[in-house]
Amino acid sequence: MKKLASKVALVVKGVHVIPMGMANAFLIEGDDGLTLIDAGFPGKEAAVFGAIRGLGRSLDQLKHLIFTHGHPDHIGSAAGIVRETGARTYMHPLDIPMAESGGPFRPIKAAPGLLPRVLCKLLFNPDERLEPVAIDQPLTAGELLPIAGGIEVIHTPGHCAGQVALLWRPGRMLFAGDVCTNVMGLGDPIGFESLQEGRASQYKLASLSFDAAGFGHGGPIARDASTRFRDKWCKKSPA
Ligand SMILES: [Zn+2]
Ligand SMILES: [Zn+2]
Repeated sequence: MKKLASKVALVVKGVHVIPMGMANAFLIEGDDGLTLIDAGFPGKEAAVFGAIRGLGRSLDQLKHLIFTHGHPDHIGSAAGIVRETGARTYMHPLDIPMAESGGPFRPIKAAPGLLPRVLCKLLFNPDERLEPVAIDQPLTAGELLPIAGGIEVIHTPGHCAGQVALLWRPGRMLFAGDVCTNVMGLGDPIGFESLQEGRASQYKLASLSFDAAGFGHGGPIARDASTRFRDKWCKKSPA
């Protein structure tokens, strides 16, 4: 993996991380065209268009836009991206009302600790208003989407009731959304709708087997990612 941060980088063969302003989106190259996971903060459409063109592709080759959840930092640029590409959109039903209204957003409570309390106030505003984005297809827990060779939908509520993690089977890469972050190592997101459900979702992901992992916030992990998850969440008893 190339050192990430401010520009598009390859994580594993076929997957590129796109920095979307303190949040990440991911572009998967499949035989059936391109798939985007999440759509970052508002006003970041150009980062996605640049990444697509950088692969020598045209914008209409973006066929699918799958959201891990409906928070503003994951759907912010969605409407503009869909307008230019015509991509089909996917989201868990519990979050669709937030995306299709463009706000307000269900509140979250800061994760345990002082830093999350500060960051949560700073970065999450439930009263934010965004350009709404229509969702074409609701996601079902446990389904295998016939996209890019197979993407498994894992319902992972807690941070957000309609959050899903996505396991891209051909590349054994997990897209964890905000189930956890990888900013200073694996850790909590800034807040939760339900801390208890959020912990359960972290354990659920730690029980899976995958090689690479991508996060809404923080750097991706290119290999042995599920071992890192197990070390973080399975070596002590649940809090
Ligand atoms: Zn979130
Ligand atoms: Zn986020």
